[in-house]
Amino acid sequence: MTPCGHLDQIRVTELPAEIPGCAECLKVGSGWMHLRMCMTCGVIGCCDSSPNRHASRHAREAGHPIIRSAEPGEDWSWCFLDETGFVVAAEPG
Ligand SMILES: [Zn+2]
Ligand SMILES: [Zn+2]
Ligand SMILES: [Zn+2]
Repeated sequence: MTPCGHLDQIRVTELPAEIPGCAECLKVGSGWMHLRMCMTCGVIGCCDSSPNRHASRHAREAGHPIIRSAEPGEDWSWCFLDETGFVVAAEPG
């Protein structure tokens, strides 16, 4: 059991093979601290320690509550609605 009731909104669990960076930051030539991936649509955004906080802004604007870390070696997820972290088990196969 996870304390998150939005797991049915997860569509994307795997990170893309190549992550150029935060899509919105690249557009405006800004920088970021860490990268996060929306687990509903797979968009890459920057974390709340970054100046533009695109990951949480996307979650709010698109209504996609769950992100995961897109940093190498990190597999944790976070739900903005429940404000709770967890790890999504990989699909078998
Ligand atoms: Zn949730
Ligand atoms: Zn950004
Ligand atoms: Zn999304």
